[in-house]
Amino acid sequence: MKTELPHGYWNPKIELMPKGKLRRLQLKRVQDAIRYAWESSPFYRNRMVQYGVTPENILTLEDFFRKFPATRREDLERDQLANPPFGTRLALPLEKALRYHSTSGTTGKPPVRAFDTERDWLWGGDAWATSLYNFGVRPDDVVMVAFGYGSFIGFWGAHYGFEKIGCRVHPTGAMDTKTRLQMILDLKVTVLCCTPSYAIRMLHVANEEGIDLGARSRLNMIVTAGEPGASIASTREIIEKGFDAYLGDFMGTTETAGMIASTCAKRCGGLHINEDRFLVEVVDPNTLAPLGYGKKGMMVVTPLIKEAMPLFRYATNDIVMMERGNVCPCGRSLDLFMGGILGRYDDMVKVRGVQLTPQMIEEIVRGFPAVEEFFTTVENRSGLDTLLIKLEIRKDVDAALSGGIIDDIKQQVKNNLGLTPEVSIEPQNSLPRFELKARRFQDLRAKAN
Ligand SMILES: [Zn+2]
Repeated sequence: MKTELPHGYWNPKIELMPKGKLRRLQLKRVQDAIRYAWESSPFYRNRMVQYGVTPENILTLEDFFRKFPATRREDLERDQLANPPFGTRLALPLEKALRYHSTSGTTGKPPVRAFDTERDWLWGGDAWATSLYNFGVRPDDVVMVAFGYGSFIGFWGAHYGFEKIGCRVHPTGAMDTKTRLQMILDLKVTVLCCTPSYAIRMLHVANEEGIDLGARSRLNMIVTAGEPGASIASTREIIEKGFDAYLGDFMGTTETAGMIASTCAKRCGGLHINEDRFLVEVVDPNTLAPLGYGKKGMMVVTPLIKEAMPLFRYATNDIVMMERGNVCPCGRSLDLFMGGILGRYDDMVKVRGVQLTPQMIEEIVRGFPAVEEFFTTVENRSGLDTLLIKLEIRKDVDAALSGGIIDDIKQQVKNNLGLTPEVSIEPQNSLPRFELKARRFQDLRAKAN
């Protein structure tokens, strides 16, 4: 049964720090990081020379934002291809590295390879511990991490963060969903850590097995990362109701290998940014001009404490909107990303003049709990751009209701997005399932031409 989340601060000195002092701390850390990269990272030394930047040029945060070049994923890929297998970003001899990880590579791009030193790893775990504690995780919690523990960084940091708090942690590697469900009951798990897509899949499997997780489990918190789902209202409702637990949104990027922002126990709808470790900017995606508070733009992020692989002004392609920390009643001065990751610029498509992100479709489709899985494509049909939404309906739902669901989804997409989609019902288990990095949206127009 759900109990109220405890409010507390993992590091009150940082979390309650006045803004001016926090900015001075960020400036000192970014100046130290630039000096270190100038001396030790060939990739960044070359970039600084190319753009006419030296450590002495950066006297304020504004200098940094204005003068230091942004790093795009393509820059890292190019460097890695030209200098295989790890590129020239590494600031230490390889023997000093402790851990290897890579991006998931699910987007069809080559994975970006990265290393951590012991200090990086400890700091990464501590960033997760901060976020988890501030959401409400405490030493008496029993945790299941439903994740494959491969070279993809995924929830590795979360695992160490939970341990750092003092929780009992159960890694579940390659276990199947039924076994994980049984473990949740047998081991009296109170915190489940996975992607939002996988949380929903667990609910469907539990439903098929006749297990009411809300009533029978001790789960109180679902910690999700890796996809925007936790902040999509309809997806959040399915997960919170199904598990009878609180859902927390934790956002990071693989390239920074860190926990950037997360939900606190007061759950104001925003995610507090770990500003002492990450310097974030919200910018126009085309001009990279700063947008400040209250405007949607691209997140550019600089991890401030990185030993093995420095990274500066990383242009993430993630769409975010920043607000001042005092919007949340918890007392933290740390700024917020409202609604977490709102989408990605590289996922945005234009269909008949309408700008669409996969999250807009998910928001609508997840409002229908009878839908078990879905997949959206944009295709060129007889010269017309067409949005197609394929649905799988839950086994226990009466087939007669399916027609109504099709009509309702069509109507909602038309009302909310100004487009009339084609909606179809597909056979059970015909659509792809995801444990990590769900991609339920494909633009097939280029292939049709
Ligand atoms: Zn808060």
